Amino acid sequence: MVGTNLDVTERKELEEKLRQHAADLVESDRNKNEFLATLAHELRNPLAPIGNGLKLMRLVGGGGEAVEEVRLMMERQLTQMVRLVDDLMDVSRISTGKIELHKQSIDLSEVMNSAIESTRSLIESMGQKLVVTLPDPPLSLDADPTRLTQVFLNLLNNAAKYSEPGGCIEFIALRQEHEVAVTVTDTGIGIAADQLPRVFELFSQVDRSLERSQGGLGIGLSLVQRLVELHGGTVEARSDGAGMGSEFCVRLPIKVKLPALQGNSQGRPAAASKTSLRILVVDDNRDSATTLSMLLRIVGNETRTAHDGEEAVAQALEYRPDVILLDLGLPKMNGYEACRLIRKQFNGKKQ
Ligand code: ADP
Repeated sequence: MVGTNLDVTERKELEEKLRQHAADLVESDRNKNEFLATLAHELRNPLAPIGNGLKLMRLVGGGGEAVEEVRLMMERQLTQMVRLVDDLMDVSRISTGKIELHKQSIDLSEVMNSAIESTRSLIESMGQKLVVTLPDPPLSLDADPTRLTQVFLNLLNNAAKYSEPGGCIEFIALRQEHEVAVTVTDTGIGIAADQLPRVFELFSQVDRSLERSQGGLGIGLSLVQRLVELHGGTVEARSDGAGMGSEFCVRLPIKVKLPALQGNSQGRPAAASKTSLRILVVDDNRDSATTLSMLLRIVGNETRTAHDGEEAVAQALEYRPDVILLDLGLPKMNGYEACRLIRKQFNGKKQ
C-alpha cells in the first residue's frame, strides 16, 4: 500500500487567523461607521439652537432679558461644541504621543474647584445636588493643572449626564499615605458588570442608539485614563450594576506637603489689565482674527490683522508691532517660516 500523510495543521491555523482578521476588519469598519454617525449627530446638535438663537436675535434686536437668555443658551451650546472638538483633537494627539504635560506644583483644591466651576451650570440645570469634600489639609501635586481639570471635568460631566434629574453627585478627595484618591460618585443609571471593563476603551459607549438622551463620542473616559496615566496615577470604575449608580476613582501620587500657598499658585495671569501694545494678529480664519483683535482693542491695545504668512511678514516690517500672535497653519507661508523671516529682518534686535 502506498499512501501520503499531509499535515494540514498549519494551513488550518492560517485559515482561522485569516477568518479572524476578516471579522476584525468588518467589526472595525462598523465601529468607524457608527462613530462617524455619532460624530455628525453630536456636531450637528448644538448648531440648530445656535441658528435659532441668531434668527431670534435678528428679529428681536437690541438688548433686554430675552436676548440675554438667548445669548446664554448660545454660549452653552458653543461651549459644548468646543469641548467635543477639543476632546477629539486631544484623542488624536494622545494616540500619536503628542500630548505634553506642563507639570508644576499645584494645589489640588484649586483644580477641583475649577472643574466644579465648569460643570456647575450643567449640574444645576439637571437639578442635581453636588457634595464636595476638598482635601484637608491642602495637598500639593506635581501635575498639569489644565489636564487634571479636564480629568475631573469629564468625570463630573458624566456623573451629571448619566444620572436622573434630582440625583446626587459626590466629589471627594481623600489622602491615603503617599497618594490621594479623588472619587466621583453618582446615583445614576450605573454600569452593568460586563460593560465595566470596557468603559475606558476609545469610542466605547454602553448605549449606542442615536436616540439616547445624553450624547457624547465615547472618548471622554479614554482621555481621562490616558491623562491620569501620564500623571503616574490610575483610574478605576465601580458600579453595582444597572440603576445602582457609578463611582470613578482617580489615584494620584502626592508630591510634598503644601506650604502656605501664595495666592496665584497656578501662574494664571491676573485679570485682564489695561495694556497698550501694538499687536499684529495673524490668522487665516478672518472671523477669528477680527474678533481677537476687537477683544485686544477693548482692553486698550492697538491692533492690525493679517491673513497669510507673506502678509504677516510685510505687516510686521511696516507696522513694527510689540507682539505678534501668529497662527502656524497659514496659506502662502506657514507660521514657522514667517516667524523665521521676521526674526531675520529684525536681526534679533528689538525694533
Ligand atoms: P460619552 O461621550 O459617551 O459620555 P465616555 O468615554 O465619557 O463617553 O463614557 C463612555 C461610556 O461609559 C458612556 O457612553 C456611558 O455609557 C458610560 N458611562 C460613563 N460614565 C458613566 C456614569 N457616571 N454612569 C453611567 N455610565 C457611565
